[in-house]
Amino acid sequence: MFFRLFAPEIYAKVLIIDLFLQISEIMIKTSLCGLTADEIHDLTGSDRRHAITIANYLYKRKIGDIMLIPDIPVRVKKELIEKSFPGIYPPVTSKESIDGTIKFLFRNEGGQEFETVLIKDKKRTTVCVSSQSGCRMGCPFCATGKYGFRGNLSVRDILTQVLGLPNSGIVTHVVFMGMGEPLDNPDNVLKACNILSAEWGPAISARNITVSTVGIAPSVKSFLEKSACNLTLSLYSPFHDERYMTIPAEKSYPAHDIIELMRNHQLNRKRRLSVAYLMISKINDTEKHLEGLKELLRGTQIRVNLLPYNKIPGDYKTSSSPERLQYFKHELVTAGISASVRKSTGLDVSAACGLLAMDL
Ligand code: SF4
Repeated sequence: MFFRLFAPEIYAKVLIIDLFLQISEIMIKTSLCGLTADEIHDLTGSDRRHAITIANYLYKRKIGDIMLIPDIPVRVKKELIEKSFPGIYPPVTSKESIDGTIKFLFRNEGGQEFETVLIKDKKRTTVCVSSQSGCRMGCPFCATGKYGFRGNLSVRDILTQVLGLPNSGIVTHVVFMGMGEPLDNPDNVLKACNILSAEWGPAISARNITVSTVGIAPSVKSFLEKSACNLTLSLYSPFHDERYMTIPAEKSYPAHDIIELMRNHQLNRKRRLSVAYLMISKINDTEKHLEGLKELLRGTQIRVNLLPYNKIPGDYKTSSSPERLQYFKHELVTAGISASVRKSTGLDVSAACGLLAMDL
């Protein structure tokens, strides 16, 4: 009100300066979203119970104003406000599919854009998050790969995709199957998984968090050791030469080695390790491929998720038929390999697997 006493051009300048000051303030302050309870404790320097309360209100109640957190001395809150801000931010736009799936576009402070998909059904609410803006793995069947690589997402950027969605309700499952190769950004993904599953965090069971990878061996090994979350390997083909043509990471990190890492780990811990098998008609759905899959996975206790192929623009390939997917499932299960067929959602808004490419 006070500023409106000035002439319009001066008022506009004052507003710009005010906005600049606000941005500068945010730039030198720490985002609480992205911090562990221990890091919040280090920041406040007060009782650890206060840090747990702050983390609970931030990650479970998604609180946007530090002063509204109860059971914390006003002095601690004021100190916290001087050093930090909540940091959860909303998407810039969204598009809803006829099946109810919603695709969101986020833009972070650095201007990087990334997409998130919310899938609700009767029993669960799943958020499919991005770990990078774009991707540098270059898989030719993937729209994100064609979009190129714009950078890794921070822990804050990853968490805000779960916490900043409007009307999401309680999120029960998180899958890292959006834009990017999660294990190409391993530290941030691991920390995000740990916060998502922490009791003082959103407290989503580690068994309901799945990271999908093309298989970067050192990061796979470290993730299996340090996280209790599920891991799924995008296989595409059980044969090295074929997989190498479609998933460039196969050159340095053959799927056989990744399966071996997973097999050795599966013996030790209770968690779900799986392979995702995208089925393309007459390309990787032949009897030879079925036998190759059986040979690769028999005795490993690794589950197979069979997925229909979602065409990207200009593509000549088509998905295997629903009957073919069911046939593969039946044959694998008969061979003692756990298998399921996953349906695609959000096709009409390009929210299905492999279609995320910033078209909102
Ligand atoms: S399939 Fe995954 S790893 Fe490959 S380009 Fe797409 S997002 Fe990247």
